[in-house]
Amino acid sequence: MSLKPWAAWLPKDGDYQLLPFKFHVLNDERELIVSEPGDWLVVPRGTTDRIANRRVKSDEPLFQDLLGGFFVATDGAPAQLDLMAARYRSRKGHLDSFTALHIIVITLRCNFSCHYCQVSRQTEDRTQFDMSEPDIDAAVALIFSSPSPDLTIEFQGVEPLAAFDRVKYAVLSALQYNAKARRSVRFVICSNLSLLTDEMLDFCREYDIVLSTSLDGPATLHEMNRSSKSNGDLAHLASMLTKSRRELGAEKIGALMTTSKAALSQPEAIVDTYIELGFDRIFLRPLQPYGFAERLQGSWRYSVAQFLGFYKRALSYILQLNREGRVFAEDYASIVLRRLYSPFPVGYVDLQSPTGMITAVAVYNYDGAVYASDESRMLAESSDYRFRLGTVHDDYETLFHGEKAREIVGAGVIEGLAGCSDCGLQAFCGSDLIRNWRETGELYGHRPTSSFCELNMGIQEFLLNLIDTDPESARILKSWAGR
Ligand code: SF4
Repeated sequence: MSLKPWAAWLPKDGDYQLLPFKFHVLNDERELIVSEPGDWLVVPRGTTDRIANRRVKSDEPLFQDLLGGFFVATDGAPAQLDLMAARYRSRKGHLDSFTALHIIVITLRCNFSCHYCQVSRQTEDRTQFDMSEPDIDAAVALIFSSPSPDLTIEFQGVEPLAAFDRVKYAVLSALQYNAKARRSVRFVICSNLSLLTDEMLDFCREYDIVLSTSLDGPATLHEMNRSSKSNGDLAHLASMLTKSRRELGAEKIGALMTTSKAALSQPEAIVDTYIELGFDRIFLRPLQPYGFAERLQGSWRYSVAQFLGFYKRALSYILQLNREGRVFAEDYASIVLRRLYSPFPVGYVDLQSPTGMITAVAVYNYDGAVYASDESRMLAESSDYRFRLGTVHDDYETLFHGEKAREIVGAGVIEGLAGCSDCGLQAFCGSDLIRNWRETGELYGHRPTSSFCELNMGIQEFLLNLIDTDPESARILKSWAGR
């Protein structure tokens, strides 16, 4: 008995069933197709039409890609459903553990007066703007009510080191809770580091605390953005970084940048400063014009298109440095690339569906109020309490599963949002309900005029075009997905 030739096992041309998939036009020649479990291909324009009209021949290489990526089936969709469901469940895995990031705004006091600060900072002597010990106790109890086995407790302020006694109190209170709860707990302090002392560093070392600071670029830019009477200069920050790395380890020190309007013309200098100060990555973030920052006038404001121009120039420079042998990554691109190349969730609030507000992050404010995200409490600084869930003295069920929480999370399911529901980039995108609310006065937003949509579509199209046209850039970008 002889084996049948391979072609005998292939279905007849056009004899395939369509599985649900979406497409997005990248440029005049190329389009992206994405299947329901998130597999994707960049293909010549017109391919979607060929697939949908069953004109893909069974001996084309594309046909095997379509079968393997869950775009089409030959043996009936039901046979594929279990596999597709498993892949889909993995992508939504962040919902299994629920809220993992808990931000405690320990004080509104700060020794800096940064131009784009999103909250109305208070002077260092005004201790009434510190979180009280009973409120800290109640916040910690709520944090340990979360079912998540991994908890990150992040201290923000304005400047947490201005109220370090409260940070210590909260850390020790959380560890006391954890003696029974036995979760994996990680602490992060977000600080400008100007008030950092040896005693604080000792405490951070003892309790394995990560420090995350702000670094906006070269001295002229950083010091213009972050004005202060003392210790606000870049040289002082550099010395604190050196000391912190020596005491805690380089992996315990991170930095975030905020893109001011003055930064838009100097992406290369900003990246160079990060490298000079010992970082191997940067997170290029646009200014969020919420809360106190809404008062910023024209000379501080810029458009999404301007930010995209800055982002593309910065990323092109970073890729050039990588080609020359320096290992350096951009964090937002890394998150998007993990969405592209990994079947697992990325844990980044803005790129999750349902929204990461409440499901991934919650904020306990200095005054005892609980908010759905960091930006939510910034909004409250301009007396807009749309995303206030209640107070630390409310019960966990009411705060995290109550009517308001359900309404917010329900509005952040992009599979059901007009514009997003049939968007080819949906599998790699998310939502920003605060922007929706500020731009349209309702939670659902309006995609054709949404700045969040413009920003994410711009970055994703840029990355996909690079991957499609430049193999060396594709290789470097793919390596970031695992970082
Ligand atoms: S926000 Fe825009 S890019 Fe993202 S899924 Fe919705 S329509 Fe697509």
